Amino acid sequence: MADFYQLLGVSRTADTDEIKKAYRQLALKYHPDRNEGSKESEERFKEVTEAYEVLRDPEKRAVYDRYGEQGLRGQPGAGGFGGFNFADAIEVFMRDFGGFSGLEDLFGVRGPRGSRAVSRRGQTVRLRLPLTLQDVAHGVKRKLRVSLLDACDACGGTGAEGGSAPAVCNVCGGSGEERHVQRSVFGQFVSVQPCRMCGGEGRVIEHPCPVCRGDGRTRAERELEVEVPAGVTSENFITLRGQGSMGPRGGPRGDVVVLLEVQEHERLVRDGRDLVFELPVTFAQAALGCEVDIPTVDGTARVTVPGGVQSGEMLRLRGLGLPDLERGGQGDELVRVIVWTPDDLTPEQEEALRRLMEVESPAPERVGSRAHKGFWSRVKEAFTGG
Ligand SMILES: [Zn+2]
Ligand SMILES: [Zn+2]
Repeated sequence: MADFYQLLGVSRTADTDEIKKAYRQLALKYHPDRNEGSKESEERFKEVTEAYEVLRDPEKRAVYDRYGEQGLRGQPGAGGFGGFNFADAIEVFMRDFGGFSGLEDLFGVRGPRGSRAVSRRGQTVRLRLPLTLQDVAHGVKRKLRVSLLDACDACGGTGAEGGSAPAVCNVCGGSGEERHVQRSVFGQFVSVQPCRMCGGEGRVIEHPCPVCRGDGRTRAERELEVEVPAGVTSENFITLRGQGSMGPRGGPRGDVVVLLEVQEHERLVRDGRDLVFELPVTFAQAALGCEVDIPTVDGTARVTVPGGVQSGEMLRLRGLGLPDLERGGQGDELVRVIVWTPDDLTPEQEEALRRLMEVESPAPERVGSRAHKGFWSRVKEAFTGG
């Protein structure tokens, strides 16, 4: 097992912020939704998440620094560490990076994780939700059809035939746990593992239900509703807590994770909360000024291009951008003026331009801010590109 610091690519003195940042980058890189479910990425995702989960917690980190990973496994009260699986990794990622502040609480209760409940917890179901820029601008409610595992009708989810009661496991006596006392150089400690006979459930089924073969679940389709707040990006997820697949034999439900995919608009380019639109104008329009209708998220808006505008200059239409999910407020639409040079002149146009050439002033050595005082200083916006 690689060193946790190496896995995250941080130094041993890295602070929590650095660790968080490094993890986020790696997690997004290896996130299963971005890797077509590749097993290798899944494994990497799990590894970096496990490393992050330890190093972000000062207590676990201190134990790890002194005793290594082995120290964490042996520690009673180290938060039940050990047996960190992929579902746990997804849960950690969603907890720290997936949601929006406060929003998750709208979707269900986040209960404390009991160790036994975890082992029987149903799987997290992941699905994609494509969104248009208009959905992002206003927020949207969507119904989703989800294929998941639901309680078997024949046995009521118990997994036992005809609803017969499962028997208490005679290996662990129903506790679901096997305890082993171990000795190591650090002293004696007790390790607790799920019972191998009953898999930690504490009960065994003697007569399995023929429909679900004792699993307590069958495949089903459910309709869920998801409410997407305005201002989301493709980096956001929405977690519908406890609405995923049922766990085996009545185990608690996993989550549904909705991965948002904001589709590109054909003419508007998103830059954070702002939208950028490129507006080609003719030379005459640029020199004399003009009024033009331009597309916005919801339709069109009229923009006044002032005479003397230079190619590449930005005009700002306040409030016509997208809502800002994190900071609140509303972005702007930035209109980038591009002066278009005609490359196919009619004889009449050519004649007019030749006349112009005779009377026009020479171009300055540099296109500077000479002309941009007063009114210009207010409308001109440097293009930052994000
Ligand atoms: Zn059944
Ligand atoms: Zn048992």
